[in-house]
Parts: sequence; structure tokens; C-alpha cells
Amino acid sequence: MVNKIFIISICINLILMSLIFLNTSNRKVEHKVIKQEPTTELNLVKLPYQDLGKFKCTAYCPCKKCSGNFKDMTAIGVRAKEGRTIAVDPKVIPYGSIVIINNKEYIAEDCGSAIKNKCIDIYFKHHKDAKRFGVKYLKIKIKNGD
Ligand SMILES: [Zn+2]
Repeated sequence: MVNKIFIISICINLILMSLIFLNTSNRKVEHKVIKQEPTTELNLVKLPYQDLGKFKCTAYCPCKKCSGNFKDMTAIGVRAKEGRTIAVDPKVIPYGSIVIINNKEYIAEDCGSAIKNKCIDIYFKHHKDAKRFGVKYLKIKIKNGD
């Protein structure tokens, strides 16, 4: 009689232990299955420059032929400066943008009736320099703000 009860209690113990074991091993599996959130960090990295592709680049100066009565006065009200001022279509490149042409930084601060879409007019102090520049199709980059 005592033996039977002992055996039964051992059996119950074994069943309980196996149940506990199964329970914990299931939990472990569940833990492994949990998916990691995909990292979006890479998409948030901002490039310093944005490639705008090829633009038709021409040149102008403050002479009557190039700028009429505006002389060296730009669309945003500052005096144009060689090596800095370019005329753009402000719908394509907003005024104040830093534009990289041939690895040199220019500022979009002027516009022109012929400067539409993918066109840029580069300011020169003298007409002969503007004329020498002629027409070039150049790859343009715009500097991203912070
Ligand atoms: Zn000119």
C-alpha cells in the first residue's frame, strides 16, 4: 500500500516536472521568435549634396546687352559678384541655394527671362569673359541645408 502511493507520487512528480520543462522550453522558443524592428537609421543619413544632373550653363555680365538696366543688381537685391553669383530658375533652384558647378560653390541670387528649368547663368564681371564661357552642359550639385 505504502509502495503504491510512493510510486504514484513519483509519477505525479515526473509529470509536473515535464510540464514545467515544456513550459520553460516553449517560452524560450517564443523569445527567439520575436522579430527585431528593422533599422531605418540608414535612410535618415542626409547626404551633404544633392545631384541635380546636367544643366545648360551660360554666362552673363552687367553690360546693357546681358543685363539691360539691371546692371549688377540681382533679383534678391544684392550686387552680383563674379565667382559667387549665378542666375537660376527659382522654381527649380530656390534663391540662396549653394550650387556646386565644376567643384566651385556659387550662390543662386539672380534670375533671367531666358533662365528656365535646367538652365543656369553664371555671372562674370566682363562681357569678354562671359562670351568666352559660351554654353556648357555641366553636372550640377546643390548643397543640402542643416
Ligand atoms: Zn555682357
